[in-house]
Amino acid sequence: MGRPLVADIVIAGGGIIGLSLGLELRQRGLSVIVLERHHAMQAASWAAGGMLAGRDPENPPTLLPLLLRSLALYPAYLERMQALSGDAIPVRTRRTLQQLDAQKIFATDLNIPLASYQEAQFMVPGLADTGEKFIWLEEASLDPRDICRALPVAFLAEKGTLLEGTPVLSVEQAKDGVVVETPREHIHAAAFVNCCGAWAGELGLGGLPVEPVKGQMATIALAPERLRCVLRTPEFYAIPRGDGRVAIGATVEHAGFDQTIQEPSIAVLLRTAGEFLPEVNDAPRLESWAGLRPGTPDGLPILGAAEMEHCWHATGHYRNGVLLAPATALVMTQLMLGETPDVSLDVFAPSRFV
Ligand SMILES: Cc1cc2nc3c(=O)[nH]c(=O)nc-3n(C[C@H](O)[C@H](O)[C@H](O)COP(=O)(O)OP(=O)(O)OC[C@H]3O[C@@H](n4cnc5c(N)ncnc54)[C@H](O)[C@@H]3O)c2cc1C
Repeated sequence: MGRPLVADIVIAGGGIIGLSLGLELRQRGLSVIVLERHHAMQAASWAAGGMLAGRDPENPPTLLPLLLRSLALYPAYLERMQALSGDAIPVRTRRTLQQLDAQKIFATDLNIPLASYQEAQFMVPGLADTGEKFIWLEEASLDPRDICRALPVAFLAEKGTLLEGTPVLSVEQAKDGVVVETPREHIHAAAFVNCCGAWAGELGLGGLPVEPVKGQMATIALAPERLRCVLRTPEFYAIPRGDGRVAIGATVEHAGFDQTIQEPSIAVLLRTAGEFLPEVNDAPRLESWAGLRPGTPDGLPILGAAEMEHCWHATGHYRNGVLLAPATALVMTQLMLGETPDVSLDVFAPSRFV
């Protein structure tokens, strides 16, 4: 058993949540070690679509304050990551055309304009006239692969420590903090944060009801001018990257930790997309993949103190983890430092499941 390490904060999980929190804590002057059992930014954060869907009326209403706070933080979050990493993270689209039933529009208080078919066709020339109603959402999207490249570099540039290939085996109480055990070292820290995404319930820090929710996606090739905004229905979404790639997603499957790509599921997804965008039916496929969203019983993230002293959870971001990363980093930092969080976190407390 190797070298003794010491840090103010140890974070388990090198996904977008763990690394964004690590970056925020570094900027408050704390020493931070992120432990990632495989490679950083290769799990759900790599598999995501990249929509910043804060105004999607399908989101749980109680999540709205945190979503809106994160949307407001996003420009500065991207700027900081780009400045520290030297990598560009372009915004790929700025509007979403969403099919929705009228009741849901009125159930939300978001003042959403309806789109005429002609308007919709201007942004989506190949849109089939299905007779459905659409709304416009002022909503941006990114390519998560850009963040996957930039975020670990930004964290390291801010003098964070990232240990890849390093699983957390256990966390024990110690005098004034915790001892985190990995296969190679014992790390003494004042506090520990569980950012293990879909695997957060496996850490043994209390019975956290995080469930993996599998999502399969595919990328197809389509001329950029044929789709100039995100197109989203309850059954699928199409996210153009602006360079001829269009990501089509995503299945929602309760299949445990299985991450295999199943051709029939991808075929159904593409067929559904083809009903709205007939060109999808003949478009070349570039890539297919699967990832695990960290789901929770009430669809809300889990943010706050764990049962064990000096330990915290920041997980359960389900379909909105890319969007919620900056707000999560900020409010968790505020909470851990004894400050009042910008957004009330009562509804996200881990204790709600006890
Ligand atoms: C198909 C799909 C589409 C999505 N689309 C969107 C979208 O459009 N917009 C959006 O905002 N969100 C989207 N999401 C959701 C988003 O991807 C997740 O909410 C977010 O990535 C969760 O980040 P995370 O850091 O918590 O988890 P992850 O990125 O999964 O990272 C968790 C990390 O913890 C590591 N780990 C686990 N156990 C241990 C251990 N014991 N020790 C050390 N490390 C450990 C894992 O290896 C992993 O790297 C999508 C997700 C999927 C799957």
